Amino acid sequence: MATAVLTPESVLPKQAKLLINGEFVDAASGKTFETPNPATGETLAVVAEADKEDVDRAVKAARKAFEEGPWSGMNARARGRLLHRFAELVAENAEELATLDTLDNGKPIRETKNVDLPLVIDCLEYYAGWADKIEGETIPVSGPFLNYTLKEPVGVVGQIIPWNFPLLMAAWKLGPALATGCTVVLKPAEQTPLSALRLGELLCEAGFPPGVVNILPGYGPTAGAALASHMDVDKVAFTGSTEIGRLIMEMAAKSNLKKVTLELGGKAPNIVLPDADLDAAVKGAVTGIFFNQGEVCCAGSRLFVEDSIHDEFLNRLKKHAESIQVGNPLDPNTQMGAQVSEEQLERILGYCESGKKDGAKVLTGGERNTAAGSGYFMKPTIFAEVKDSMKIAREEIFGPVVSAIRFSETGDAIQRGNRTSYGLSAAVWTSDVKKAHNIARKLRAGVVWVNTYNVFDAASPFGGYKESGIGRELGKHALANYLETKSVWVAL
Ligand code: NAP
Ligand code: MG
Repeated sequence: MATAVLTPESVLPKQAKLLINGEFVDAASGKTFETPNPATGETLAVVAEADKEDVDRAVKAARKAFEEGPWSGMNARARGRLLHRFAELVAENAEELATLDTLDNGKPIRETKNVDLPLVIDCLEYYAGWADKIEGETIPVSGPFLNYTLKEPVGVVGQIIPWNFPLLMAAWKLGPALATGCTVVLKPAEQTPLSALRLGELLCEAGFPPGVVNILPGYGPTAGAALASHMDVDKVAFTGSTEIGRLIMEMAAKSNLKKVTLELGGKAPNIVLPDADLDAAVKGAVTGIFFNQGEVCCAGSRLFVEDSIHDEFLNRLKKHAESIQVGNPLDPNTQMGAQVSEEQLERILGYCESGKKDGAKVLTGGERNTAAGSGYFMKPTIFAEVKDSMKIAREEIFGPVVSAIRFSETGDAIQRGNRTSYGLSAAVWTSDVKKAHNIARKLRAGVVWVNTYNVFDAASPFGGYKESGIGRELGKHALANYLETKSVWVAL
């Protein structure tokens, strides 16, 4: 059966309100904000704007759901069943959800449909399966005692997510929190609130009791800060910039010392050795930087290419970059959509100017793409002859801009690749297996890809060394973020 093409009108909400205690309500202040379509600049919806008072109400509801009522006493298998039902509903509404994220974020529909949504569903199913497999241990202590551990949910959790993968970031956060039995107050990014609200409807439809998940669109410095510094929130999980991550930790420290996990920025080295399969490496470099308009924390933004293959490699990369179809994100042929906002486009253009001023060579792009439309479109951009000291080689650009850097000795590339305050991801391309594993060990990053780039799986941990974060998302590792361990002693 052919699926009907979803029009923006058919997926946009009539009203976009806050989800608090199982009901969609206006903000206490009555304030709203508009969320625009970055591909056109047109307003998609008017959204209720949460602030401190709404955060208070949501935290109260989450606390009540955690301590009383059906969720607090629910057995683990029933919790897993609810998560399974939620995953099913997301799958049934995948087209609609993909279209919403494409409209709100500007990313191409072929990616939201074929990458984001499958990963979202996978993640929710994966954590549904974990709900009844979280076990403590019995410990052989000295003396006449039985000693065992209980793994208990940490409590009320505040989750603050970014705009680059609105649904996927929500799934990465909700999956482990709900599997472990926590309750949640989730704040989506102001740029992309719509899909999270639709998830809220599906959570209610799946049968999650009121207050278990509350969703509060709003601004970071108001709603986000109220959540991170709330005295009755037990844990805050944040994904976004390193700068705000630092603030989140400070707010947690200055309030109730709530637990903190952070998934922050990156400046990944993508290292190509001369013995690599060059076709695969060029394609990997393209995916590494141009996927999702480069708005990816693990983007391969520093491309280290060995001298002897440097010119040929960059020629091929340039050809690929120039063949990328940039334009209307709803067109199924579009490969790169719009940057999320004018502010983000301006930031990226600022970095391009800085690269030019510092003497890097623009191989292609380096400017706004006006031919693609009136929205915030960029040209896929390659800077060559970039020096390690340049700003474009040091700072996270978060756009489709790659800095190509030459090297002649592998050890030197690894050292320079590691010389960054970030440590989220890294990649190496080589046909020598032994070399590949040795280099993977030497790279100081939470994820290392060998002869591939940007692959993810719900079962495999993701997160950063150094200033790229604290804790790991995905896999069984993420469960630990949401659990307390209790040691129980019984005299025998
Ligand atoms: P951001 O400010 O770090 O935003 C991430 C989340 O934090 C959003 O929900 C944001 O809310 C919230 N937030 C902002 N200020 C806050 C505060 N004072 N207290 C609590 N929460 C706060 O990121 P951005 O401004 O959107 O983007 C700036 C740069 O961050 C990008 O250019 C990129 O380098 C980096 N970034 C990284 C990631 C990543 O996945 N690692 C994701 C996005 C951006 P509002 O959006 O509603 O203000
Ligand atoms: Mg928007």
